[in-house]
Amino acid sequence: MTSSLKTAKINAVFLDRDGVVNQKATEHDYIKRYEDFHLLPGAAKAIHLLNQHCYKVIIVTNQRGIARGMMTEDALSHIHDKMNQDLKKQNAFIDRIYYCPHDVTANCTCRKPRIGMFLQAALEFDIGKETSFMVGDSLSDIESGINFGIKPILIGSAIEGVLTADDLLAAVSTIIIK
Ligand SMILES: [Mg+2]
Ligand SMILES: [Zn+2]
Repeated sequence: MTSSLKTAKINAVFLDRDGVVNQKATEHDYIKRYEDFHLLPGAAKAIHLLNQHCYKVIIVTNQRGIARGMMTEDALSHIHDKMNQDLKKQNAFIDRIYYCPHDVTANCTCRKPRIGMFLQAALEFDIGKETSFMVGDSLSDIESGINFGIKPILIGSAIEGVLTADDLLAAVSTIIIK
């Protein structure tokens, strides 16, 4: 291959957080404290593999517990510090974290399946959509990926016509083979 004068676009893997990177809270609850945050098995390894394969790893997470007064933004940033420390111990890192603190009723532009967080990422990174992915465990994750124009991968359940994987590590294996 001859070299191209065009700057290469960046490959990115967008990750939902709860149920993909860490254990979900019980239904109708939120991860509110540092003590509630537990990485899922294989998640750090999966992120490490993405790091090694030069994918930007970008978390996009809806955190309406903030709007509902169940958690502060300080608590969330503390949780994310712990996540980063836990990952670092396993040679993995997240490039950027975006969160939507709004409630469903706020009609904000960032709550998935809307794509405000993705557009913010696209301002910071020259993302090549053809080679980027969204990995999530809910329908709104899949819709957000489709709405932004990247390939979605669903974890833990199945939707017809959507690529699925058992967990993040399985999803990443699919991504890096492609
Ligand atoms: Mg989730
Ligand atoms: Zn929002």
